[in-house]
Amino acid sequence: MNGPRIDLTLAPELRLFAPADRRGARVPLVTDGSSTLGHVVESFGVPLTEAGEILVDGRPVTVSHIPSAGESVEVRAVTRPQEVPGAPLRFLLDVHLGTLARRLRLLGVDAAYESEDIGDAALAALSAAERRVMLSRDRGLLRRREIWAGAYVYSDKPDEQLRDVLGRFTPRLAPWTRCTNCNGPLRDADKEAVGGRLEDGTRATYDVFAQCVVCDRVYWRGAHHARLEAIVSGAVREFGAGVSSPARPFP
Ligand SMILES: [Zn+2]
Repeated sequence: MNGPRIDLTLAPELRLFAPADRRGARVPLVTDGSSTLGHVVESFGVPLTEAGEILVDGRPVTVSHIPSAGESVEVRAVTRPQEVPGAPLRFLLDVHLGTLARRLRLLGVDAAYESEDIGDAALAALSAAERRVMLSRDRGLLRRREIWAGAYVYSDKPDEQLRDVLGRFTPRLAPWTRCTNCNGPLRDADKEAVGGRLEDGTRATYDVFAQCVVCDRVYWRGAHHARLEAIVSGAVREFGAGVSSPARPFP
């Protein structure tokens, strides 16, 4: 290409998106002279959901800026915590993030997730229709223009994914108030009312129950409780419970 030559500097945390042989601090680039900076940055591999402020020769520009010869472009990372204006904060997770979805729900964060792969187009449409922040490790999905808002999930390990999302968006935490199975709200449940759904051993051992108002699943302090409690207490210690819900139906 004989278009304008520019220099591109990515924030260190964005360099993993660059082609493997182009992850230096300052990379020379030839553009086509008509594409916007947003397109240039995205074509270089960086999802625009991950780009914060963009500077040209030290001055902030928008993604619609068309770079010209000799310009020095700097792409910063999104600022954390990141605000998502215009709707209550809620999420949509792609099919590969089931563990993260269940952990967010455990903390009371609204996290929609389909265990079947409904496809990128349907996910993007759902993100737009329900104004949910699309969480994914798929850069192609995050490039879709329809999505309401999106974020790349940087780790493939659920512990680190949870810290990444909680630190980035600081959602209000309300542990034990949401169904990890379907994302529905939980309510207190009488032992008598749910007794028929329980095994004899559970009925004999536990007295406090909660039930999902959407899928009817019954919750109690079972064998997994210590592991779940560790996830909850770790998240609350680091990211705060926010305005915790007065009701704590799943004690
Ligand atoms: Zn449920």
